[in-house]
Amino acid sequence: MRKASWIFLLAIAVSCGTKKEKEEIIIVEEAIEESHHGHDHDEFDYDTYDEAESETPKKRPVYRETETILTDLIHTKLEVNFDWEKSRMNGVAWITAKPHFYASDSLILDAKGMDINSVSIGNKALSYTYENDFLKIDLGKTYTRDDKYTVMIDYVAKPEERTTSGSAAITSDKGLYFINPTGESKGKMPQIWTQGETEASSVWFPTIDSPNAKTTQEIFMTVNDKYATLSNGKLVSSKKLSNGDRIDHWKQELPHAPYLFMMAVGEFKVVKDSYKKPDGSAMDVFYYVEPEWEPYAKDIFGETPTMIKHFSELLGVDYPWDKYHQVVVRDYVSGAMENTGAVIFGDFVYKNDRELLDANDQSTIAHELFHHWFGDLVTCESWSNLPLNESFANYSQYLWDEYRYGLDEADLHAEEEADGYFQSAQMQGSHNLIWFDYDDKEQMFDGHSYNKGGRILHMLRNHLGDDAFFAGVKNYLEKNKFKPAEFHQLRLAFEEVSGQDLNWFFNQWFLGAGHPVMNFKHEVDTANNTVTVSVEQVQDLELSPIYRIPLVMAIYDENGKHEFMVTVDELEEKFSFPFTGSVKGIIYDDQFMLLGAINEEKSLEQYVYQYYHGERFYARRDGLMKGSKLRTDDGQKLVLDALSDDFWHIRELAAGRVKKLKGDFEDQAIAKLKDIVKNDPKSDVRQAALKTLAKELDDEELKPILVDRIENDRSYSVVSSALSAYVKLDPDKAVALAQGLEKERSSKMMFGISQIYAGFGDSTKYDFFTNALNGNIVQGFDKLGLMSSFTYYLTRMESEYMGKAIEVYADLAENGGFYMKMFAPQNLNYLLKDLETKKETEQSLMSGHEENNDHILMHASKKKIAMIDDLITRYTELVQQLEE
Ligand SMILES: [Zn+2]
Repeated sequence: MRKASWIFLLAIAVSCGTKKEKEEIIIVEEAIEESHHGHDHDEFDYDTYDEAESETPKKRPVYRETETILTDLIHTKLEVNFDWEKSRMNGVAWITAKPHFYASDSLILDAKGMDINSVSIGNKALSYTYENDFLKIDLGKTYTRDDKYTVMIDYVAKPEERTTSGSAAITSDKGLYFINPTGESKGKMPQIWTQGETEASSVWFPTIDSPNAKTTQEIFMTVNDKYATLSNGKLVSSKKLSNGDRIDHWKQELPHAPYLFMMAVGEFKVVKDSYKKPDGSAMDVFYYVEPEWEPYAKDIFGETPTMIKHFSELLGVDYPWDKYHQVVVRDYVSGAMENTGAVIFGDFVYKNDRELLDANDQSTIAHELFHHWFGDLVTCESWSNLPLNESFANYSQYLWDEYRYGLDEADLHAEEEADGYFQSAQMQGSHNLIWFDYDDKEQMFDGHSYNKGGRILHMLRNHLGDDAFFAGVKNYLEKNKFKPAEFHQLRLAFEEVSGQDLNWFFNQWFLGAGHPVMNFKHEVDTANNTVTVSVEQVQDLELSPIYRIPLVMAIYDENGKHEFMVTVDELEEKFSFPFTGSVKGIIYDDQFMLLGAINEEKSLEQYVYQYYHGERFYARRDGLMKGSKLRTDDGQKLVLDALSDDFWHIRELAAGRVKKLKGDFEDQAIAKLKDIVKNDPKSDVRQAALKTLAKELDDEELKPILVDRIENDRSYSVVSSALSAYVKLDPDKAVALAQGLEKERSSKMMFGISQIYAGFGDSTKYDFFTNALNGNIVQGFDKLGLMSSFTYYLTRMESEYMGKAIEVYADLAENGGFYMKMFAPQNLNYLLKDLETKKETEQSLMSGHEENNDHILMHASKKKIAMIDDLITRYTELVQQLEE
């Protein structure tokens, strides 16, 4: 699963841009804060936990054990049809199973919130009890582990009629979702989809809803012929019925875990692609999208066949399943989900060709695909072992970037992943990667299982070397395929291949919490031509161990670069290396490998040297950012040179440093930026150049550059930035230019326009907001941003617009999906605050009128206050209603 995290929201809020939108940023930030407080019970507070532990001696610590296997599922056959009006599903399930080891006369299944109509075996009815979401079936006789049996269960799934919980990662656990089922809400395609992870599949079929269960599967779905269907495995047959319905039969012959079962139904267009298998045969790779996204489906998903090929080759285990289809759904409750051969994405991936220039979702596509080896083929046996799924999926994003875009791009993203982990650890506390004492299984879907785990695998790869790492991974996959696994099996697979005892690595990283905090410095002894590096580990030893860290250090002298392999494994250590001439540069972690907080002491001159001679992105980035603080020509020339760096992110950073330059360096850099803003191939760099030029150039020189970008740049983010800069120079013209862009069917662009209108649009723009909020162009988090723009816009409008807007918010909260519902009250409260302020202003005006005895104005003020009071009442009512 790929999370939709609050960190994403924060990033979006912060990227909102202009000063005018500060208010909106605050709204979103408050909302984020609120959401964290609101979910306190979901979050693990390590400090309190430790205290509680020490104050209650003799209590066994919590241990989340792996589910005991009483019964082996063998095959699951379902026949289903849907009641769209009632958001229910009628189902018949045939569960083939056998006792795992001990003979048994009963079968216990998870079945959440269903009506059970009957249970039978053969033609014989079986007695059963159905309580607390467990269906306990009396099989009527004792079966041994050599006996198979098939029970039939006739049931109704009622996902909307049970109370649900959920978490920040997976925002709901209804299992089966009916989206706009009666078609009431315009602009949203009616659809049905499922979300099983963690244990919600048992809302729509009775099963053993645990990750250590596996079963083959087939589903017969009866739908109206106008709908496309998707499920796991192959489409075996599709039969039209005389009543206008159709029965699609999907069958998966290889076993997988129940949480990976999936169905989707809707009037999707199916765009066909394929993957050529090593034996030359073609495997279907389809993209299910809404009709208007059909032209862009291959722009969005088109790298998939190349990814399947690359990962198959890298892992030495070919893609193991029948097909690989991907579908985009509305109101999805997470980011994306790796249902075997039938992956679901939230609508954030809908991007047109121009939007894809700014950002694509290949990381998410790679993540879900990689799960088809790590998660679907070999499955974590318990949620405590979730990093066996998510760490690999997370690391696939590095592997894909490395292959497709090069090491610099991969390293940049590796650093972002590390930052995500650091933030998550700071906000939610640290815990062991393999976490046996969580409060709630949903907590496992955090910055540890994903980001930290991915970085740990990267360290292991660095330590073992590529050949041993990938051979170890292959060994793990082959030994555990179609089975559940725990993390020891991963260690054993690497140990067998490499011949090394790896307990030290797994103990400190998989069974430990926190990360190393290290101080590096060095001293040069010119008399003896030695440089001595001192390393200190200063992490909190209550939480974390003293780490053993193999590192490659690089020393640069007159003869170039020298690499030294060292192993840090004490709290304080010194390593001495020889050099010739002088030490020009030193890089403590030359492979950019270590996950930890590093403090290092180096001279600014050494950073300048590091920019020009470092090999990995981070060495050159630090070289630029720190070396450019040197107040000499070298420090200035560095920025100028970095504007021509091969890696776009370095050019982007350099564009932001230009304002530090003086004299001739400044003139040259500005000239270079004028070229970059038009011609750099990467939109992020053009955008950075534009932002710097907007600060450095005078208005008359700037205006034509901005207009040129608004009219000619293909990137919506560059266009938005140009508009934001232009609005400060000439608001009226900026609004007119924004109006010209309304025709772009782009979520990002609509959001950009909304920011201009929020601060400067007049009352005629009201319809733009309501159309954009009700339409289906603006997707995902852009819609949250648009709602914030609308909120800010309303504070500038006459009261009648606030009156009209109430139903817009009510509708968004009702039909706009989870996030809109969650954030609507914050927006409403912001408006309420504004109304209170307006009321106070009017009241003080009124006292003035009273003193002046001006009855006409008094009357007008009174009327206005009454109107504001009315709005306050109505807005307050809506907030209360939504918060219930
Ligand atoms: Zn995942």
